[in-house]
Amino acid sequence: MRRLLLLLIMGGGAGFWWLRRAGRAGDAAPEPAGGNAPYQQPRLGGEIAPELLEILACPLDKERVERAGNFLVCQQCQQHYPIRDGIPVMLVDEALTPEQAATAR
Ligand SMILES: [Zn+2]
Repeated sequence: MRRLLLLLIMGGGAGFWWLRRAGRAGDAAPEPAGGNAPYQQPRLGGEIAPELLEILACPLDKERVERAGNFLVCQQCQQHYPIRDGIPVMLVDEALTPEQAATAR
């Protein structure tokens, strides 16, 4: 009889402990949804105003660029300048060769 009582006490304790754990888990704040979303890489593409395209030029040779997919392509040297989130990145360091652009497309 004493052993049974001991088991009941132990069992009750374990149950109580489990309930507290479950309760604490329930109290935990839910995962923030979009509140502090991680930084997102800008995506290729996006709309560019035609007026903007008119005044853009290749920084290497000041030639006209034309849109080809997600890139602005220099009509002279064929360098591909990426468009990220609608913003043309007219930087020589960011420009891709036609071969590189073909794989990035
Ligand atoms: Zn060029």
